[in-house]
Amino acid sequence: MEPKINLAARVKQIKPSPTLAVNAKAKALKAAGADILNFSVGEPDFDTPDHVRAAGKAAIDDGFTRYTAVPGIPELREAIARRFAEDHGWQYTPEQIQVSCGGKHGLYNMAQALFGPGDEVLVLAPYWVSYPDIIQLAGATPVIVPLTEEKDFDLEIEVLVKYVTDKTRGIIINSPSNPTGSVFSREALEAIGKLALEHNWVIITDDIYDTITYNDGKLPHILDVNPALIDQTLVLNGVSKSFAMTGWRIGYTAGPQHIISAMNKIQSQSTSNPSSIAQKAALAAVSGPQDFPTVMKEAFEPRLDYILNALAAIEGVTCVKPSGAFYVFPNISAYYGRTFNGKKIEGSLDMADYLLNEYKIAAVPGVAFGADRFIRFSFATSMDVIEDGMKRFAEALGRLE
Ligand code: PMP
Ligand code: GLU
Repeated sequence: MEPKINLAARVKQIKPSPTLAVNAKAKALKAAGADILNFSVGEPDFDTPDHVRAAGKAAIDDGFTRYTAVPGIPELREAIARRFAEDHGWQYTPEQIQVSCGGKHGLYNMAQALFGPGDEVLVLAPYWVSYPDIIQLAGATPVIVPLTEEKDFDLEIEVLVKYVTDKTRGIIINSPSNPTGSVFSREALEAIGKLALEHNWVIITDDIYDTITYNDGKLPHILDVNPALIDQTLVLNGVSKSFAMTGWRIGYTAGPQHIISAMNKIQSQSTSNPSSIAQKAALAAVSGPQDFPTVMKEAFEPRLDYILNALAAIEGVTCVKPSGAFYVFPNISAYYGRTFNGKKIEGSLDMADYLLNEYKIAAVPGVAFGADRFIRFSFATSMDVIEDGMKRFAEALGRLE
């Protein structure tokens, strides 16, 4: 029967987050007793550090359980400003910082504050699954610019310029990237900066993985490459990945005062402040010892080596070595067109279904990231799962006819 109540048009344009959807499916299958190896969701397999959890508990015990200032408690915004100053030398006042209910919510606030119908926003593919939908929820149009495996997913500026129109309002960059783990070169960032200055674009730089890198030497950042961009750049970060705090829901944005104020207006009419308790925990994370991401990174490194070697041993599979984050994004398209039990694998969705149904491997199809020839494995999971999973993966591909 047709439902009585119609939904708003905007809901029909978007899809549920595919990463969260695959994770939910994997968890449900596991709860039902299936031997699932879950490579789907991107969250550290670490507990939140003790001192951060203690701060959260203390907030509850101290009765710090009421509304706070909409953009976050001043001491947290001050601590975030200090972090930016110490780590990068960027000078932000606490008023130029908004704390939101996770990094995703920060992106949502930005899009609502900046974009609307008729606006185009450049999104580089492979992209993180939520960028296009968050832009669409603001009524604007995501314009997808392809990056290639051959160039290690770095930006080719001569490709980017083909997608620029007089409606282009901004660009989202994510380095290290989810899903590829690639980082942008200094040259690419310089070129983006030049175009942004010329056309008055807003740059949204999603730095959520910036503490988890596998390259020696500093990660180039667009604001370090071209400090003049400070008046048109929004820096997104948070504690979800760097402090294993995905469930606490705390992200933050730094940027020009008038944009942050506009984002605060939107936050005040939607979520109000992020959780008071989670803010106190985030304060402990941001202002306390900063070695936790390194501890995680040291655990991730051997897993990455293992997974890359295992992938390299599979005929026809190629994989760019990630420079950061905790994902590998192998190209599996050599296996498209092959069959299992008479059913043809046409693309990444079919492959992800085949892997889940026949081999109990949960991975996210590349199509969710705008790159159908690939599949994403998160290696923020145990070495046992990785070893078993890579064995099953090789077997699964080998069985296709
Ligand atoms: N950006 C990227 C690239 C991500 O992978 C994530 C992970 N969820 C986020 C933003 C948002 O993180 P969260 O909302 O969990 O803080
Ligand atoms: N960013 C994580 C991922 O890509 C979490 C899932 C999500 O927020 O969509 O798996």
